[in-house]
Amino acid sequence: MAGNSKADCKDPKCPIHGGLKVRGTSLQGRVVSAKAKKTAIVEIDYTRYINKYERYLRKRSRIPSYNPDCIAAKEGNVVTIAETRRLSKTKSFAVTGIVK
Ligand SMILES: [Zn+2]
Repeated sequence: MAGNSKADCKDPKCPIHGGLKVRGTSLQGRVVSAKAKKTAIVEIDYTRYINKYERYLRKRSRIPSYNPDCIAAKEGNVVTIAETRRLSKTKSFAVTGIVK
C-alpha cells in the first residue's frame, strides 16, 4: 500500500492518528475519484423500498470524504467511511480504511 507508514502520520485531521473524532454513520462504498488532494469521492449503492410499487428502488449517492495520506485510497478501492465534523464545504466524512 502506498503512503506514509503509520508511525510518521502527523496529520491532525487523520481519523486514526490525528485528533479527528468520528461519530454517527459508518458506510462502505467504492472510490470513484481520488483526484482532489486528500479527498476521495465515495459512491454508495443502496436500495429504498417504494410502498406504491412494492419494490425496491436502487439508488446511488456520492459522498466526498477526507482521504488522509496514511490511507491514500485510490480509484476503485472499496473503503469504509465514517461521519465526522464538517471538514469543508462539502466534506463531512473521512475514509477510515480500505476493504480491498
Ligand atoms: Zn494517519
